Amino acid sequence: MGIRELLSLAILMAALVVVPTAQAAPSPGEHKMDIYYPGTEELAPDEMRVVACGTGMPSPRPKQAAACWLVELGNGDKFLFDIGAGSHERIAAQKISYDYLDKVFLGHLHVDHYGDLASFWLGGTTMNRLTPLRVWGPSGPTPELGTAHALKLMKGMYAWDIASRESVIDPRGMVLEVTEFDYKGVNKVIFEENGVTIRTIPAIHSLDGAVSFILEWNGLKFTYSSDTAPNSWWIEHTKDSDISIHESFLPPSLMITKMKFIPKEALIVSTIVHTSPQQFGKLMSLTKPRMAVGYHFQNDFDTLPVMIEEVRKTYDGPVVFAEDYTVFNITKDKIRVRDSAIDEAVFPPNPIREKNPIPPPTESPYSKFISDGHELFPEVLGPIWDKINKENGTDYKLPE
Ligand SMILES: [Zn+2]
Ligand SMILES: [Zn+2]
Repeated sequence: MGIRELLSLAILMAALVVVPTAQAAPSPGEHKMDIYYPGTEELAPDEMRVVACGTGMPSPRPKQAAACWLVELGNGDKFLFDIGAGSHERIAAQKISYDYLDKVFLGHLHVDHYGDLASFWLGGTTMNRLTPLRVWGPSGPTPELGTAHALKLMKGMYAWDIASRESVIDPRGMVLEVTEFDYKGVNKVIFEENGVTIRTIPAIHSLDGAVSFILEWNGLKFTYSSDTAPNSWWIEHTKDSDISIHESFLPPSLMITKMKFIPKEALIVSTIVHTSPQQFGKLMSLTKPRMAVGYHFQNDFDTLPVMIEEVRKTYDGPVVFAEDYTVFNITKDKIRVRDSAIDEAVFPPNPIREKNPIPPPTESPYSKFISDGHELFPEVLGPIWDKINKENGTDYKLPE
């Protein structure tokens, strides 16, 4: 044993004989924080829960996925607003059966607002979704730039995925129902079911074809900008919201220092294509929500103080700059804001209806060339199939 090994051994020994201190370890619950644990709380019949499932930028990062907001209502309804890159993981962390997550509303067709739609649609099917996925999205200035065309192409892009799964799992969740609505609709109803009304107003962002949403239920009003520069429709129609979620980009100064934008880019992107925090504050002063929520920037220890300083120049009401997993519980009397504790090792929750048995395949999905290369190891698989058949009262035969 050389000197280095001896030293390592000595360090290891020292680590093993750490003497416990006199202070007892805190018992669980002693330091209870005000934390939301997904899957553990029933909503009251008059309550709305809003979960930030993505608050970041077009390129997701471990701390923040791109835009996505989950709205859950006391009547059992659930809605997703935008489903940007990286947000599927955050939705999965809510431990909600995919069958309940069957309604997605897209504000516009930037990748940071619908980049995880395909993953959520097809991945959700493998995670027991048996309900068609319904998607609402705006028309565009031409048919080729609208939601219906985009999702038709998405279906085509995943032709192999769909064909490969159809005969293996219950395919009912693969059905995609798309509703394209007029992006020019002003406070126009696009959804009305079960006491919930969703309206849209035009947004001003990059190109014609972006919208913002207004959801009303049981006397509560949720408004969500998706992406937009300040506009007259937002000021007119989102007044007195219970929760008003609006994009708030980094101010131009931080776009230059943190994102390495050149000054002209920073000014245009932060204040003309998007909404800077001072503009966000101005909008909130004009619309006076019970709770203003800003999102769509890198929310860090060094950016947040700047955002707060900026917004306070134009707004002195309640405001939260949301991070991923910030949770809002809203009733007529109270708005509670918490962080979530996330279980990273989630499995799919149970489906809410019975799965259909899959009929045995009539022919192999493979060509003879591929089939000939398949090693089934009957001596290994035989006992596995026998055991499962015995435990489940089935009689499935190992393919020849
Ligand atoms: Zn956008
Ligand atoms: Zn965006």
